[in-house]
Amino acid sequence: MSAIAENLLQVSSRIQRACEIAKRDKKDVGLVAVSKKHSAEMVRAAYEAGQIAFGENYVQEGVDKIAALQDIRQQITWHFIGPIQSNKTRFIAESFDWVQSINRLKIAQRLSEQRPLDLNNLNICLQVNISGESSKNGVTPSEALLTCMDLVKLPNLSLRGLMAIPEPGASLQSMKEFHQLFIEIQKHLMKNQFRTQFDTLSIGMSDDLEQSILAGSTMVRIGTAIFGARNIEEDQEDLNTAQ
Ligand SMILES: *Cc1c(COP(=O)(O)O)cnc(C)c1O
Repeated sequence: MSAIAENLLQVSSRIQRACEIAKRDKKDVGLVAVSKKHSAEMVRAAYEAGQIAFGENYVQEGVDKIAALQDIRQQITWHFIGPIQSNKTRFIAESFDWVQSINRLKIAQRLSEQRPLDLNNLNICLQVNISGESSKNGVTPSEALLTCMDLVKLPNLSLRGLMAIPEPGASLQSMKEFHQLFIEIQKHLMKNQFRTQFDTLSIGMSDDLEQSILAGSTMVRIGTAIFGARNIEEDQEDLNTAQ
């Protein structure tokens, strides 16, 4: 068995155990394998081991990888999870299935205009800055509801939920509050009869997977535990890059 296949099994059993402890169904927690800075060949190895959802942080790297894996494009769901510059939105709109890192309406409007009409709606999540650090991307929790009310109206996009990147060592309580915000927005959208499948709370990385599932995550984004370590300094930049 390949190292990636073994790592995937381990991550899967971590998710299983966390779900048992949280008394949740494992089917309700999706796994996005974050392949940033890893090759198309490694993505293919993970795909061959059964993984079908992948996350990328950089537009050019992601677009190139998607092109290199064109033969399995229909079987894979590609998530864009990195900071978005407005001059790059077209490439994202044309190549990806999901964008989890929406941090302002303007970006979503561009993606909506640029989404090719022969493709399904682009699934989006609003990124919320739950740790209050100025360097992190995302709207504040108090802005999230009104922003969602705007996002849900855009054509060619489907608002699917919220995403956050908690600071390292963030408390379980802060993640539970994020889950609570998600539930409130979900109720509000339903009450106002917006027809959207607002079902995704994307939170949880290699180091906080268990705690995120306990707090109610429905989608974990795991890089290191599947593909191995990346360069730490560059990594800090990734997570902190402002617009
Ligand atoms: C890199 C990254 C991840 C994966 O982080 P790991 O700690 O390697 O699991 C998840 N989400 C986002 C937004 C990332 O940039």
